[in-house]
This record gives sequence, C-alpha cells and structure tokens, in this order.
Amino acid sequence: MKTLDLHLQSKSLDYQILIGKDLLSQNKHFTPVIQGQQVFIVSNKTVAPLYLETLQASLKGYECSVFLLEDGEQHKSFASYQHILDAMLDAGLRRNATLIALGGGVVGDMAGFAAATYQRGIRFLQIPTTLLSQVDSSVGGKTAVNHPKGKNLIGAFHQPSRVITDINTLTTLPDREFKAGIAEIVKAAILYDVTFFEWLETNVSKILSHDEEILVTMIERSCAIKAEIVSLDEKETGVRAWLNLGHTFGHAIERSLGYGELLHGEAVAVGIAMAAEYAVKMFGLPSEDSVRIVRLIESFGLPINIQSEQYHINATILAEAMTLDKKNVDADLTLVLPKSIGEVTIKHSVKVQDVERFLVGYLD
Ligand code: NAD
Ligand code: MG
Repeated sequence: MKTLDLHLQSKSLDYQILIGKDLLSQNKHFTPVIQGQQVFIVSNKTVAPLYLETLQASLKGYECSVFLLEDGEQHKSFASYQHILDAMLDAGLRRNATLIALGGGVVGDMAGFAAATYQRGIRFLQIPTTLLSQVDSSVGGKTAVNHPKGKNLIGAFHQPSRVITDINTLTTLPDREFKAGIAEIVKAAILYDVTFFEWLETNVSKILSHDEEILVTMIERSCAIKAEIVSLDEKETGVRAWLNLGHTFGHAIERSLGYGELLHGEAVAVGIAMAAEYAVKMFGLPSEDSVRIVRLIESFGLPINIQSEQYHINATILAEAMTLDKKNVDADLTLVLPKSIGEVTIKHSVKVQDVERFLVGYLD
C-alpha cells in the first residue's frame, strides 16, 4: 500500500490518499477517520452489488445507512442531490456523522456536495472505484451537481478526510472506462513529468494487464502531480489551468458529438493529440515529441481523431464549439499546449480561424 499525504493551505484540512489492494475489507483504514457513530454510505446501483457488502463488513459497530443512486451522468442532478439529503435527514444524521462515497466521479461529486452542504458540512470519505475518479476527481476537493444549463455549475469545495483507493475495484471496471481514466494520467505526465511519461511508455502492457504494483505506482504518481498543481494554485499562480491540457479540444468534441457519444477521457485523448499537433504547427513543439505523445495515447487503445463524417461534424463546428469554453477571456481562445514532454504553456489570444484551419487538415 502507498500513502500520499496531501498538504493544503489550511493544515486542519490535510488528508491522506491510501492506494493499494484489499483496502476495502480492512476496518483499520476507516476507523481513524470516522467521527461519531453514524455512517452514511452513498453509492449507485451498479457499484453497490459489487462492493457494498465488503465495505459494510468493515464498518461493523457503526450505525450505517445506505443510499443508492441511479447510475449515469444524467442523474448527477438537483433531484438526486435532494434525494440524498432527504435520506440523510430521514436517517437522523447529526453533524458529527460521516458520509462515505463509494463509486466513480458521479457518485463522488454528488455525495461530496451533499456532505459539503448537509448542516453546513459534515465529514466525508471517498472510495473512488473508477480509474478516472482515483486519479482525478478524488484530488482537489471539488464537488458538484449538474444544472440544465451546464455541467458542474453548482458545487462547493469540500476536502475529504481520507481517500481510500482499493485497486481491486478496477477488476470489474469496463475496459473502456479504464482506458478513459488513462487519458487523464497521460495528460498529467505530459504537462508535468517527463520521467513519468517515460515510465508510462515502458509500462503500457503491464498497465493494460492490470499489474497490481504498476497500477498502484501509476495512481500514486498521477494523484501526486494533480495535488502538487492544485496546491501551487492555492498560492494563486494560475497553474491549475494546466490541467486543462487537451480539454478545450476535448470539451468541444463532447459538445459537438453530443454528450455520451465518447467518454470524457476518450474526448480528452483526442484533444491531447490535437493540442500536440497544433503546438507543433504553431508554437514549435518538436515534432518528435508530438509523435511520442500520439503513439503513447494510441498504445493504450485510446482514439487520437474522430470520424467527422460519421458524426456529421467538421472543423467549423468544432472550432465554434471551442469558443464556448469557460476558460476563454475574450472572442479568442485560450489553449494549454505542450512545450515539450513534461512542460506546458498557456496561450491566450489564439485565433479561432487558425484553429479551424488546423482542424481542416487534422480531422479524419
Ligand atoms: P462514473 O462515475 O459515471 O463511472 C463510470 C461508470 O462505471 C458508471 O456506470 C459506474 O456505475 C461504473 N462503475 C464505477 N465503478 C465501477 C467498478 N469498480 N466496477 C464496475 N463499474 C463501475 O464516471 P467517472 O468517469 O468515474 O466520473 C465522471 C464524473 O466525474 C463526471 O461527472 C465529472 O464531472 C466528474 N469529475 C469530477 C472531478 C472533480 O475534480 N471533482 C474531476 C474529474 C471528473
Ligand atoms: Mg477531465
């Protein structure tokens, strides 16, 4: 097992991420961070049949209630959020109760938001069960629900008291979801850590065959990178934006194709490949770096392009969708682009027309 210590600006919010095998079945990982007697578990109807029993067995002796959400991003809604709060009130949870989120990013974000707001905030533990939630949403303290006007528009920062990442949960995760999580890991390596990028290149087949030691190392390093960047940004350096590498292209792809067509990680994979090629064309990224980036993405079985005909989209539609990105400051685009492997730069005032011209040549 590896333990990653997260140090936040307010020391009282420091917490640990435990990463290893069979953690869910060991009560010693839970008891130090559970307050009071009341525990409220939020999961969903896909994950609960797989892992709830094991978790509950580790929580013997506590007064445990459970609430199960329907599965799916469409249920990351106000209605579900209210159902969680209703169930918390029905269970008579007091302020010293502990909420445990068991599931992927959807469960984690929504349960986290319920924990952030129930009686102005109660203790919260995360058990992320998708690779994406293990390396991404469990670090940084963001919780949210979607609004009809957009994703994650309503939320709060609420740090968990501990994250318990049991890699056994990845054995049941659909392969496509596993690979989608890898896209965010590749992103972290490109933007911050060339050594980790090289490590990924060396370990593709072990990662794809779920070598346990390799998975633990990979998850730990990714979380550490995100944690470092997030903590730098507590000092308001603006580097948190680096985490958007591949996301301006990626979000535009998700929006243009219709949400759900590609998984977020798949759209990000294409977005990273596009960002790398664009950086070669416009900002002098050495083309051998882009070749390596694209090759690594492909070696994980992730996409690097989209079939524009199949989806009835073109460069104009995609470039237009990019202008809607929240991170833009004016009519031009703000893009995070690789400068070399292990380093990114933020480019403001990128002309939409330039990106469109690039996409004409890039799209399949
Ligand atoms: P998800 O939670 O929808 O999980 C994907 C699918 O896998 C679901 O069907 C789920 O039921 C299933 N599943 C989960 N664990 C499983 C397991 N161990 N075995 C079998 N099936 C399992 O999706 P996700 O990719 O984990 O998370 C996406 C969400 O995370 C989005 O809503 C996004 O906004 C959010 N997110 C938040 C942050 C943050 O900083 N808070 C960061 C990134 C993403
Ligand atoms: Mg993302």
